[in-house]
Amino acid sequence: MTFDYDLFVIGAGSGGLAASKRAASYGAKVAIAEQSLVGGTCVIRGCIPKKLMVYASHFPALFQDAAGYGWHVGDSKLDWSYMVNAVDQEVMRLSKLHIGFLEKAGVQLFQSRAVFVDPHTLEVDGRKITAEKILIAVGGHPVKPDFPGIEHTITSDEMFHLQEQPKRIAILGGGYIGVEFAGVMNGLGSQVTQMIRGDNLLRGFDEDIRTGIRTGMTHHGIQIISNVMGKRIEGVPEGLKLSFYMEGQDEEKTLTTDVVLAAIGRTPNLDGLGLENAGVDVVPGNHQEMSQTSTGGYSVNSAIAVDEYSRTSQPHIFAVGDCTDRINLTPVAIAEGRAFADTEFGNNPRIMSHENVPSAVFSQPEAATVGLTEAQAHEKLGEGVKCYRAQFRPLFHSLTGQPEKTTIKLVVDANTDRVLGAHMVGEHAAEIIQGIAIAVKMGATKKDFDATLGIHPSTAEEFVTLR
Ligand code: NDP
Repeated sequence: MTFDYDLFVIGAGSGGLAASKRAASYGAKVAIAEQSLVGGTCVIRGCIPKKLMVYASHFPALFQDAAGYGWHVGDSKLDWSYMVNAVDQEVMRLSKLHIGFLEKAGVQLFQSRAVFVDPHTLEVDGRKITAEKILIAVGGHPVKPDFPGIEHTITSDEMFHLQEQPKRIAILGGGYIGVEFAGVMNGLGSQVTQMIRGDNLLRGFDEDIRTGIRTGMTHHGIQIISNVMGKRIEGVPEGLKLSFYMEGQDEEKTLTTDVVLAAIGRTPNLDGLGLENAGVDVVPGNHQEMSQTSTGGYSVNSAIAVDEYSRTSQPHIFAVGDCTDRINLTPVAIAEGRAFADTEFGNNPRIMSHENVPSAVFSQPEAATVGLTEAQAHEKLGEGVKCYRAQFRPLFHSLTGQPEKTTIKLVVDANTDRVLGAHMVGEHAAEIIQGIAIAVKMGATKKDFDATLGIHPSTAEEFVTLR
């Protein structure tokens, strides 16, 4: 049987772009379909615009800090529309750049939705297209909790296009997105209330890191309310009235705000993809306890079932990135996509390791982590775990007067001396942990860390002087 393409990729986000270009570099005839802007969540409505807004939000604190160094900074004022437009223009530039990269690689782009008709056929832009192999890289979208008035909330998708800066914002959820936007909006001058259903932010992170972030965020002026369940949202003349319960209390409480951001997780984009026509199996995703007013099709947070080679239940159909709900990070999707292309088209069968994947939370203070938390290490090794911690005021803040604290921590296997995890809260955490992640991935021991000389004066040197 002949096919129109060797490979058809559904979704031009991080995973799909990486896989399509890599497959084409091996001589495969490749096409890719994207129903929205080329670039996917990371470029269009995630990492990139978010990080630019994080940068924008740092300035007021820096203006204040500058006084400690003798600078007299005049009145400063944010032009919200300017910032939103500047961020948007950069996003558009990057999207066009990615289209250019596809052209250069010889990948044909269909700016349209692709839906499975049968295991080898997709309907794209009203045409039937066949492919020998198909890669699903459709990503995910934010979900909302299910209570009356939820239509008044927005998600991270809309945060990048708010027409004006809200004076007050309430954020539901204490994961990556909630914590990052709390920092952004607080830094930009909005009054932020973050409401979390559990005791603390960022479940799954090391406890010292969770505490360090929360203390820092509170110091920066963010109000964090724990053990809250939203009940109802109503539009009132003063804005939005959010009614909620706090665990163990019968009394309903209310908060009036201008914007409510729902940041309670994301779910794969599987509805309407025609997976049933292709015989591709789905499994419950990692966040199956979430509820959502569903649009039908697959149950909320189903994910595509894949093996370690990203192969679905159909041997010629593969899936990478957030739609598989493994580790939902851009570099993971890219690495999964390239491993797939190398295996299937490059005569180099290999799997992508999901161990020791570093990640950062661009909260304020920033945090980053690689490897096992203290709790995970104990779960794996029992008592044989040794932890090293330091908490200190970074040199920069010795003149600013800010009680800003940096926390660093190493989790070590007491028997082998191998460093199992490295965690940090504080300025430049992402940049520092990226370097440390190489050592952790290579299996470095605490002795190796100790044998490395520090760069003085720096924050990173503390990782090699921990006692
Ligand atoms: P997360 O899964 O990280 O966090 C969800 C948060 O919402 C948790 O605090 C969770 O509480 C809470 N929650 C879940 N369901 C409900 C509910 N029904 N009512 C109230 N609260 C609820 O999701 P995010 O949306 O923050 O981020 C999605 C994913 O995007 C991340 O997991 C990450 O993979 C990726 N991402 C990565 C970034 C980075 O690398 N810097 C940045 C942004 C996103 P509980 O803890 O109790 O479960």
